[in-house]
Amino acid sequence: MSKINVLDSSVYNLIAAGEVVERPASVIKELVENSIDAKSTIISIEIYGGGIKKMVVSDNGTGIEKGELKKAFLPHATSKIASKEDLNSIFTLGFRGEALASVCAVSHISIVSKPSEQNEAYKITGTAGQICEPEVASANNGTIVTVEDLFYNVPARAKFLKKEKSEEGEITSLVAKLILANPNVAFRYLSEGKLIYESSGHGEKDALFAIYGKTALNETLNVNYDKLIKIHGFLGKPSLNKPNRTYQTIIINGRFINSFQISSAVANALDGFLMKRQYPFFVYYIDIPTDLVDVNVHPNKLEVRFSNGEMVYGAVYNATLDAINTLDSIASVTPFKENVTPANLITEEKASEISTMSFGFGNTDDIVEEEQPKKVDEIQKTRESYLESVFYMNENSQRGVADGFGLGSNLLEKLANVEKEERFNKVSSEQTALEVPKTIVNVGKVFNTYLILEDDKNMFLIDQHAAHERLLYEKFKAQAENDELVIQPLLAPYIVTVNSQEKPLIESQLDKLNSIGFNISEFGDNTYKIDEVPAIVSGIDFNEFFGKFLEETRINPSFKNSDLVKDELMQLACKSAIKGGYDLSEGEIEKLYSMLGKEKVALFCPHGRPIVVRITKNEMDKWFKRIV
Ligand code: ADP
Ligand code: MG
Repeated sequence: MSKINVLDSSVYNLIAAGEVVERPASVIKELVENSIDAKSTIISIEIYGGGIKKMVVSDNGTGIEKGELKKAFLPHATSKIASKEDLNSIFTLGFRGEALASVCAVSHISIVSKPSEQNEAYKITGTAGQICEPEVASANNGTIVTVEDLFYNVPARAKFLKKEKSEEGEITSLVAKLILANPNVAFRYLSEGKLIYESSGHGEKDALFAIYGKTALNETLNVNYDKLIKIHGFLGKPSLNKPNRTYQTIIINGRFINSFQISSAVANALDGFLMKRQYPFFVYYIDIPTDLVDVNVHPNKLEVRFSNGEMVYGAVYNATLDAINTLDSIASVTPFKENVTPANLITEEKASEISTMSFGFGNTDDIVEEEQPKKVDEIQKTRESYLESVFYMNENSQRGVADGFGLGSNLLEKLANVEKEERFNKVSSEQTALEVPKTIVNVGKVFNTYLILEDDKNMFLIDQHAAHERLLYEKFKAQAENDELVIQPLLAPYIVTVNSQEKPLIESQLDKLNSIGFNISEFGDNTYKIDEVPAIVSGIDFNEFFGKFLEETRINPSFKNSDLVKDELMQLACKSAIKGGYDLSEGEIEKLYSMLGKEKVALFCPHGRPIVVRITKNEMDKWFKRIV
């Protein structure tokens, strides 16, 4: 156990000053980080009354010697750094030596500690900054810190505390991150005596399971990036996309932080798998050489500064691209094996056993290694070529083809060598016998919802609605991004009749509607005539679309600019996509086929549901015992 030094003020002043204790969660963070710094392998966290009444953090770490106990409460007392040089390479979580002093100033605190070399445990108590002499106590090796009645002597601060439930929530999400950030420590976290999280300390997959359960194990891709900056962890498949950023965990050199830059790098790499206002699920462990990162920015240490932000951005971006490229965008069907993967065998109660199991994670060994982190313009190129492969529809919009759903598109020209009849006629047995690779044949439709397609080795089922959503979304997005809305005249003008409440709504939106491609004008009493529409909406149920637009305008009259309108329209386009039973036109079907020909297509609807399910011929042969 190292001695505790009182830092020289010249050193202390180099440390970003600030208040450490803001709410119960900040106390828990400091206490748990102290336990981790003390090399604990088991940490227990108990809270009562959202932590305001009582918080107990116990560990099996190195402990504090009797003679050091009092010093631990002194401001700027730390055993972790001694000189300013130490600030350049901080390996511990704490280093300011101010946490225990600050907590002691605003609560009743007690520490019971027993280093293994000491025969007895000693207990020291402090109240509102007053510290008593240590007394003999009985305890196992390690340290137990109890904090009660936080802010009892600072009513002004107590006022800013939220309801107990909210404070509990803050602690719970904090503990989740602490567990993820310290996968080799076994944690138990209880509130009001009720077990909330329990991790085994057997690694990252176990930690992920402890916090997010089985789904996260099944629905994440492995991230594995090994350059100067090393990144590994878990990236959620599109089905795990969330409406906010709280499902993002960034751990840099063992310390979890918030970083808008890193969150954006992930989101930008996943553009196309994310809808507006959707955020990816991820847990990234990032190892950056300590000289490239400065943790000494904010006292709560939730922010770090990078000396080369672009490099970090690039690494995260590339790591995410690599991971998403391992995603088989076509769901495969293996019905007879479904419920026997090890992950499915795990019950929540059996969490303690999970360390001995291997989970059904994909192998990432084959991820291509590159020598240097990509430069930003290289990244841009990778990104462009990636986007190109994902969003083939950009090609159409750039060429300004007003084709509704892809007739005459560039891509279809590329497919021209594929005989049209082959794609539209039910295939004969000789044709299947012939090797006709990359030829996809339309077999039919079931339940008026799923299209059936086949190529020489696979049968594909396509959810028409999900596919149509994706098509509409991509197309409209591309148009909106390129400021290139293709306008399509209507053969017969569409007449909208509105009531007296709707009239002011539509009047208020006329300019915006015109600016995004609707040619709409008053036609008579409460009647409007639409002569032209953006091509994107020409193919959908216009009646429904327009009704929804009015409805949205009524609910949310604060459309500020045409961008917002485009945004809304994009979403509306999704909502207005054909329902299962609708018959797709030939052009639409052709477009869907062409999606299958692509290698990496975001074959998920914008909400993350799969568009295509594949059943291999091999699999089917097994069902019928043609092969074993
Ligand atoms: P810091 O963590 O920045 O050093 P703290 O005020 O949090 O400052 O803690 C002061 C000192 O008390 C630490 O440097 C450490 O030596 C000791 N300490 C605190 N908690 C523990 C613990 N759980 N186990 C062992 N030592 C501890
Ligand atoms: Mg500390």
